[in-house]
Amino acid sequence: MGALRKVSRQEYLKKREQKKLEELRDDIEDEQYLFDGVKLTEAEYRELRYKKEIYELVKKRTEESDYTDEYRMPDAYDVEGGINQEKRFAVALQRYRDTNAGDKMNPFAEQEAWEDHQIGKATLNYGSKDRKLKSDDYQFVFEDQIEFIKATVMDGVNVDQESSIESPDSSSAKTAFEKLQQDRQTLPIFPYRDQLLQAIHDHQVLVIVGETGSGKTTQIPQYLHEAGYTKRGKIGCTQPRRVAAMSVAARVSQEMGVKLGHEVGYSIRFEDCTSEKTVLKYMTDGMLLREFLGEPDLASYSVVMVDEAHERTLSTDILFGLVKDISRFRPDLKLLISSATLDAEKFSDYFDSAPIFKIPGRRFPVEIHYTKAPEADYLDAAIVTALQIHVTQPPGDGDILVFLTGQEEIETAEEILKHRTRGFGTKIAELIICPIYANLPTELQSKIFEPTPEGARKVVLATNIAETSLTIDGIKYVIDPGFCKMKSYNPRTGMESLLVAPISKASANQRAGRSGRTGPGKCFRLFTAYNFYNDLDDNTVPEIQRTNLANVVLTLKSLGINDLLNFDFMDPPPSEALLKALEMLYALSALNKNGELTKVGRRMAEFPLDPMLSKMIVASDKYKCSDEIISIAAMLSVGNSIFYRPKDKQVHADNARLNFHMGNVGDHIALLNVYSSWRETNFSTQWCYENYIQVRSMKRARDIRDQLEGLLERVEIDLTSNLNDLDAVKKAITSGFFPHSARLQKNGSYKTVKHPQTVHIHPSSGLAQVLPRWLVYHELVLTTKEYMRQVTELKPDWLVEIAPHYYQLKD
Ligand code: ADP
Ligand code: MG
Repeated sequence: MGALRKVSRQEYLKKREQKKLEELRDDIEDEQYLFDGVKLTEAEYRELRYKKEIYELVKKRTEESDYTDEYRMPDAYDVEGGINQEKRFAVALQRYRDTNAGDKMNPFAEQEAWEDHQIGKATLNYGSKDRKLKSDDYQFVFEDQIEFIKATVMDGVNVDQESSIESPDSSSAKTAFEKLQQDRQTLPIFPYRDQLLQAIHDHQVLVIVGETGSGKTTQIPQYLHEAGYTKRGKIGCTQPRRVAAMSVAARVSQEMGVKLGHEVGYSIRFEDCTSEKTVLKYMTDGMLLREFLGEPDLASYSVVMVDEAHERTLSTDILFGLVKDISRFRPDLKLLISSATLDAEKFSDYFDSAPIFKIPGRRFPVEIHYTKAPEADYLDAAIVTALQIHVTQPPGDGDILVFLTGQEEIETAEEILKHRTRGFGTKIAELIICPIYANLPTELQSKIFEPTPEGARKVVLATNIAETSLTIDGIKYVIDPGFCKMKSYNPRTGMESLLVAPISKASANQRAGRSGRTGPGKCFRLFTAYNFYNDLDDNTVPEIQRTNLANVVLTLKSLGINDLLNFDFMDPPPSEALLKALEMLYALSALNKNGELTKVGRRMAEFPLDPMLSKMIVASDKYKCSDEIISIAAMLSVGNSIFYRPKDKQVHADNARLNFHMGNVGDHIALLNVYSSWRETNFSTQWCYENYIQVRSMKRARDIRDQLEGLLERVEIDLTSNLNDLDAVKKAITSGFFPHSARLQKNGSYKTVKHPQTVHIHPSSGLAQVLPRWLVYHELVLTTKEYMRQVTELKPDWLVEIAPHYYQLKD
């Protein structure tokens, strides 16, 4: 042993640490985020090193995971096989401008100058060295991948620190029910309960304004119930989104301690969860619209609350006109219009100067960060940002909310996040991923509201639904790519398509506000400050001005409202769009030459579907194939979540999928094959697994199909099957979708027949390689190209046979 000095393990570790720190110091000093003269303490170094280590891991994982071949085909999928965001932004913006005729140019040269100026300003405001270093944990963390600039702070309003602190009385064992009652009393609306009830008592129509999360949706109907309004009739509360209607109803039933579907229920398309007992009824605005068909004066209601009025969905806008009308001859009916934004004057003006009740808001300041340069791929940028926040900020300091555009995108993000966090083990805190979108199965929806367990962090991947409809407590970070999925409609050609479009400034600010509910928040915008100030519109254009109106016109016509041009719209749609809708309904034989509803039209109006789908069903009577057609309609209504394509089994999944396409039958018949095969196995779950079919989507299709079958009976169409004559099925499809026909061009693209426009078969179609000469498509989706989704081959003489008034043979 002798001369060798024994070094204690502790000493050894300390030495090693020191050495490493020195290395790290050299390392770090090379990097630009260290400013001359600013020395970090050893503890700071250590922390930085740890972060850097994790960070490297994140980065490595990011590089490893090549998600362009993820199993799903997001809407953003294009032939190049990825999400080329830059291109998409350009296309979307162009398209948006074309349709909205806002001919702003995008002067890139100006952009740089402007950004420099703004950055200069930001640095002036926030850029003292000390400050920079402190606030810039972020600068460090985001340095490599996404650089953010903190540019603005959205001020808090009426922040009352005390009232926001969770009620501390946890010593006594409270029941969940008591806790809920206590929570109700901490909501901003609570102190105004009596004043509000008084105002409602005094006025027939009241406009109510209050920040998201103040308790409008969940509390007002309960207050009214407590005050006895339900003795005279139901209280109906409309929501623009189905998930909101369901989830809010669930919450209120808990708060009232009753079973969902009894006193408190909801009604959404294809799902009625109410009973004789129901007195508080949450429903989509579209459902209330349909209720007018059966009860034109809404006699069974004592109060109607048109909630989320600021969203200005098509159905909400039509409801405005209808409820305004009935309020005149039903003085006993109370009408509440509630909104999360402050431009309530417009609602007040429209409702004959109805008084406005303002619920003072409560919001903490929110720091807004912008990216320095436009992000090429926002999905990836969003994921990276979420991971960076997660690994660098202590868990328990707040959850993350990411705004994405739709189900496919959310599912893709979920997979990637899972994939990238898997390898970390216990190195990082647990990240609980909660998706939320319209078609999410009910049992998974409540997950977003469950409190985050200690030591973990929640990341909510949401569509626009979380912008104002749902409030999730505990969100501290918002990541906003700046896009949402929108319908766009060109009234000149009558063509409608879904596209991912930039949001408005108002939306962006609402989104940011979600992070400041329970404490100061941070919002990371994945676009530049220049984009925000110069590219985004101030407000979202109301849906009524950018959509196909055929559905609404059919509903109004069946309500006996014939003079559409003089209907009391808050913002009238372009008259061109109204005329196009009338034309379309005439072509579908729903209206006669005088614009009156025909028998076909009356039958069509019974179905809660787009007129073309309804027409397809009504036409199936003639072709003796209603059995097949309602299966197809149900499958189409489920959306694009039927086929499942796990990353490691893509070949199997593709083969399984191709089986249903055997004989190039087209996508509609393939969907029918899927449904029929499943039915033959007696709706086996195992069969779904074996065939890479999503069992949840199938169950939903079955529910929808059952309801369509019930509606067939109502319009006196027999359920008949004609499986041996696929042409008959295709003719029925064509009877509804003939306005969506397209013809093959020499270069492999297609031209739509009626208003020539270049379109392409979506790569997910079974006919993408087949390229039939003529086809009908279900819908158009715009990504980098205008894609037709769900296509079926047709014979051109069918068009002349089925729609002679619409198509004539040329010479
Ligand atoms: P507003 O309509 O004014 O935006 P809400 O009435 O929707 O406000 O929300 C009030 C409170 O109720 C919020 O704190 C929200 O988190 C909570 N809440 C609403 N729905 C649910 C739910 N399904 N589960 C748990 N909490 C909910
Ligand atoms: Mg609400």
